[in-house]
Amino acid sequence: MDPRATQILQRIEELARLSETPGQLTRTYGSPAMGRANQLVGQWLRAAGLTPSVDAIGNLIGRAPVKTAKRKTLLLGSHLDTVRNAGKFDGPLGVLLGIACVEACRAEGRQLPFDLAVIGFADEEGVRFQTTYLGSRVVAGTFAPKDLTRRDAAGISLREAVASFGGNPGKLSTARWPATSLVGYLEAHIEQGPVLEQKDLSVGVVTSISGQSRLLVEFIGRAGHAGTTPMSLRADALCAAAEFILAVESQARKKAGLVATVGRIQAEPGASNVISGTATLTLDVRHQADATRESAVAALQQAAHKIARLRKMQLHWQPVQQTSSVHCSPPLTRLLAHAVRHHEPRSVALPSGAGHDAAVMAGLTPTAMLFIRCKNGVSHHPDESVKPGDVAVALDVMVDFVRQLARQHE
Ligand SMILES: [Zn+2]
Repeated sequence: MDPRATQILQRIEELARLSETPGQLTRTYGSPAMGRANQLVGQWLRAAGLTPSVDAIGNLIGRAPVKTAKRKTLLLGSHLDTVRNAGKFDGPLGVLLGIACVEACRAEGRQLPFDLAVIGFADEEGVRFQTTYLGSRVVAGTFAPKDLTRRDAAGISLREAVASFGGNPGKLSTARWPATSLVGYLEAHIEQGPVLEQKDLSVGVVTSISGQSRLLVEFIGRAGHAGTTPMSLRADALCAAAEFILAVESQARKKAGLVATVGRIQAEPGASNVISGTATLTLDVRHQADATRESAVAALQQAAHKIARLRKMQLHWQPVQQTSSVHCSPPLTRLLAHAVRHHEPRSVALPSGAGHDAAVMAGLTPTAMLFIRCKNGVSHHPDESVKPGDVAVALDVMVDFVRQLARQHE
């Protein structure tokens, strides 16, 4: 086995042990496990000849030790946070490949016309505060300060979480990277889908990242006794939610490429012998074309209002987050595809249905993204799995990409 891939996979295992829940991998923003991950990856950055630091939101960054103002930086990376009961590869693989790429480039001993830096974003998944890309939005300068008032399930505000993680909620703007300081951003990530496996390819090149809408939908009915309230006099919020969830499914099935999901539902008071007074659910809608996604969300809002009206209850429709579809940089993507063809029979172009830090970074700097085959396309699950040979190919492609980009900048 390729020793560089072996090292990356050993590090994946080490990182997977840093979790906030025993027996599972869960590493959410600001948790002690995230702090330990930053420390451990910081040691690996140092071993690769980079100087680690943590910015005002908690992103871990490894930079060239000697920095001259004029030299621009090519940033490599991904995120170090995870979903609950996560797989080991989603996020960390991109950070570790970035570090290995820097090591390989340094070992070649060739002077590059730009600096290489590695970033491990502190929050991409948005598990704790229900808003994604906290880390990359701060770097790209698109973080909305009002998000600091968001609270997690325990009532802790993001402002408090940033401070207790060692960051500075009042100085997030200091973590912003000027566009002029960057050559671009390259992110490697598991595919989270089955296409590369079907095509029997190790890696593929991402062309665009689908936009997404996240919402909170609340039906407010009337709680009541399950034994004494006649069916005709009920305003059962959970029944309204059930009707809405099926409407979401049928709406998404009407349009190719459209996906819509209710992933969480909470009914109150939540007792077996009490009619639900309120039901709150999450809604996630995605499509490559923004107009298609937006019209689907509008249609679902109408459907929710109709359900609430007919059932004589109130509706709260609350958009949580909206991101537009993002296209990767055509020149960098061509370069990456060229590098892929050195190591693979062909290069396939893939759209990404999942969101990535690359989508935020593309607003700041030319961005390219490499997908790595994962077993059965599974992600956000402990069964996530990546072949060592594919990790080695991804690393070779990244090093080739850096070489070619350097040639263009010389
Ligand atoms: Zn990810």
